[in-house]
Amino acid sequence: MFLTISTSGTPAGPATDLGFLLHKHPGKAQTFATSYGDAHVFYPEVDAERCTAALLLEVDPPALARRGRGRDGKGGKGTAPDAALAQYVNDRPYAASSLLAVALRTVFASALRGDCRELPERAAAPLPLRIEVPALPARGGAALVARLFEPLGWQVTTEQVPLDAAFPEWGASRYVRLVLEGELRLADALRHLYVLLPVLDDAKHYWVSADEVDKLLRFGEGWLAAHPEQRLITHRYLARRRSLTREADERLELVRLADADDVEVEEIDNAVAPEEPEDAEEGKERPEPLAVQRREAILTALRTAGAARVLDLGCGQGQLVAALLKDPRFTEIVGMDVSVRALEIAARRLRLDRMGERQSSRVTLLQGSLAYTDKRLKGYDAAVLSEVVEHLDPPRLPALEYAVFGAARPGTVVVTTPNVEYNVRWETLPAGHRRHHDHRFEWTRGEFRDWARAVAGRHGYAVEFHAVGPDDPEVGPPTQLALFTTHGPHDPHGPHDDKKKEEAA
Ligand code: SAH
Repeated sequence: MFLTISTSGTPAGPATDLGFLLHKHPGKAQTFATSYGDAHVFYPEVDAERCTAALLLEVDPPALARRGRGRDGKGGKGTAPDAALAQYVNDRPYAASSLLAVALRTVFASALRGDCRELPERAAAPLPLRIEVPALPARGGAALVARLFEPLGWQVTTEQVPLDAAFPEWGASRYVRLVLEGELRLADALRHLYVLLPVLDDAKHYWVSADEVDKLLRFGEGWLAAHPEQRLITHRYLARRRSLTREADERLELVRLADADDVEVEEIDNAVAPEEPEDAEEGKERPEPLAVQRREAILTALRTAGAARVLDLGCGQGQLVAALLKDPRFTEIVGMDVSVRALEIAARRLRLDRMGERQSSRVTLLQGSLAYTDKRLKGYDAAVLSEVVEHLDPPRLPALEYAVFGAARPGTVVVTTPNVEYNVRWETLPAGHRRHHDHRFEWTRGEFRDWARAVAGRHGYAVEFHAVGPDDPEVGPPTQLALFTTHGPHDPHGPHDDKKKEEAA
């Protein structure tokens, strides 16, 4: 199994920088033991103009047979003579495949992470790359190869390998010679290969365990969620294991959703709600943007409730967390979001790294999903879900409901969501459109109230509703807010019920 990676010299640096980026010295050949045999790295071509690194995996069929637990997790493929022989006589030693992906990860671990102490700026920048795989098993043929690599910015050339060169009439084999060319970051290129070689091979030789989902998401970061063939990729990469595939698809869905929010959610929020024309004539001050009004309404609700320890669930980029930090009565603030990227931005905006110890001890950012119960969320005074529920698919709302009102059970819950009736008042919003393309739904006042009352009833909360923004006599306010509170000492479902009973006794 064989793969070459070439680059050419540019004003940014000589081609030989490839050695630093791969953490493998161009001057020597090196050998690494992998679970399936030895992997050799060497450079057939080294100068300032062009540099090529080659990875050759010498598959050891007996090792493969020993380790090659099939999908049944037991090993071997049965005892029929043909099957037994197939363990030793197969295409594995020659064709690039999942085994080559394993070798890539073993040999180029730092490069896959994008680490390069010597040349960090080179590792972070795209460089001209040419990758060649002479024999790639490609179930789905050249067309699928193109569909997988082209959306990632590669120029793809494939050549079908004939079944037997001496007998062209036998037709094509399932192998292609693959050449990828493009300007990409080396780490991204390696991640593409790491994920897509096994996908094309479609015959994983190692046991697919639950942590494969984590690996897939780690190496797919930044490209897989947006890939048009994402479902095919997860499906094949996870060897068609249904539960794993579903988990991966769901997690990628959340990545997509969060990524979309990062850029666009604020657009309409920062707009000023349309005003009555006479206000403008009177020269009244411009009203605050809706996002600011919403934050104020939430802070007021939390202060009135006397909350000190507060969860901001679906905190996004941390604007509310920042506002909470400014008020010392909020002693413990937890921001949780499913999007790592949003949390990174939040941490940067809050300047968590430069905060004094006293401030920073008040705030925690957590990654997590509201679709699952989470022990870390138990025992707080209040939780806020500001513009979050509408980002979940309706079938997932019961899970969110249970996670927040059933399991975490804070004394107060503040939920805000757009009022779809108000959309006709936004001039910039074409009729029938939602405020954000990723909103799974937008509720009327009636729908929101029905949902909130049912939730309150099921979990022993009382609920009241407030308007945020100008309350239009016809269509209501742009944002609706529900304030849930537990029934106090008589709360039959309250987590502290026993204690309270003891106190009362
Ligand atoms: N609360 C912020 C952000 C709202 S945007 C505000 O009011 O401005 C919606 C946020 O919900 C996004 O940051 C998104 O990543 C997050 N989100 C969506 N689904 C989620 C889930 N299942 N679990 C946790 N957060 C989720």
